[in-house]
Amino acid sequence: MKEDTRIVNAGRNPEENFGIVNPPVYRASTVTFPSVEVLESFDKNPFDGVFYGRHGTPTTFALEDAVAELEGGDRGIAMASGLAAIAVSLLAFLKSGDHVLVADSVYGPTRRFCDELLQRYNVETTYYDPRIGSGIEALLKVNTKVVFVESPGSLTFEVQDLPAIAKAAHAKGAVVILDNSWATPLYFKPFERGVDVSIQAATKYIVGHADAMLGVITTQEAHYTTIRKATATIGACSAPEECFLALRGLRTLRVRLERHAATAMKLCEWLKGRDEVDRILYPALPEDPGHALWKRDFTGAPGLFSFVLKETPKKAVVAMLDGMKLFAMGYSWGGYESLILPFYPEKLRTATQWQGGPCLRIHAGLEDAEDLIQDLDAGFKRLNAA
Ligand SMILES: *Cc1c(COP(=O)(O)O)cnc(C)c1O
Repeated sequence: MKEDTRIVNAGRNPEENFGIVNPPVYRASTVTFPSVEVLESFDKNPFDGVFYGRHGTPTTFALEDAVAELEGGDRGIAMASGLAAIAVSLLAFLKSGDHVLVADSVYGPTRRFCDELLQRYNVETTYYDPRIGSGIEALLKVNTKVVFVESPGSLTFEVQDLPAIAKAAHAKGAVVILDNSWATPLYFKPFERGVDVSIQAATKYIVGHADAMLGVITTQEAHYTTIRKATATIGACSAPEECFLALRGLRTLRVRLERHAATAMKLCEWLKGRDEVDRILYPALPEDPGHALWKRDFTGAPGLFSFVLKETPKKAVVAMLDGMKLFAMGYSWGGYESLILPFYPEKLRTATQWQGGPCLRIHAGLEDAEDLIQDLDAGFKRLNAA
């Protein structure tokens, strides 16, 4: 089956539900058993099958199966948020005295989890330049259990050489965990590039409508029990309604992404011609430093990118942003609507030095590109007038 056919069919089985197209929302805490034998059959393995609401219902399993299939892994585990999926994946592999390597361009809250929580449990984090590639070898210690990658990185979009990093990590026995939210399961196939665990902030493109929080961890069989046990022991789980919304969003992921990408490219081309713009951070652009790696490993780019302004006073940037009509300011991304966000990489990087003026991140939504360009154009007029 081609991928577009899989997107439509993965995790779906209408024959099991009166022919109804979408997997229904099964809500549950208690699940009852017809006999002691069936009840106790779950003692050996409470993670497979419908056992208790916290371990998931058929709605959860449908989403887990669908995302795992598209990522190219064996098993999926749905969590209440992308961050919960990241946190529990790290906890599953780390213990006191261990060391973890984390990309310097990682999602801010992932960094906070390492600095504030893992540190309290005596797990040491070293941040590395996301462009390190096979040079990661020099940073791997005997107690390095995890190499955490995010490619391209949050906000600044550095592309990582994941096959090179995975090769070095595996040679020293470390597991590679990837935050694959930007590319989605469609544009990057983690398990073909040496990744052991792939995480989706499904909140973003999979849900796609800015109205539900969800994370999905995908892994191969070898690591499945380790992670599933950790999620079950912590009590982390996801809500069936949110899984239903994610399954609904997933079916249109391809067509949405193509439009997000086309609009992002139009905005980039327009921004390139602006005097106010110093550079654009989007690996799909041939001049981007990560373009060659992106072209080698990815099959597409979604609608999320950043640009760096030439030195501009903050009040001028504020004048631009405060008057935007179509680009709303807000965290998250991946919905149908366009967003713009100021950010400060220098506050979030410790292994690398950030150079440049004010930074803005854009999520290109599904609006008409010409309307979006007009909104930006008016924004630059305010910026220049301030
Ligand atoms: C938003 C985001 C997350 C966290 O997802 P939530 O569902 O908001 O917790 C993780 N990684 C990246 C790259 C994100 O952008």
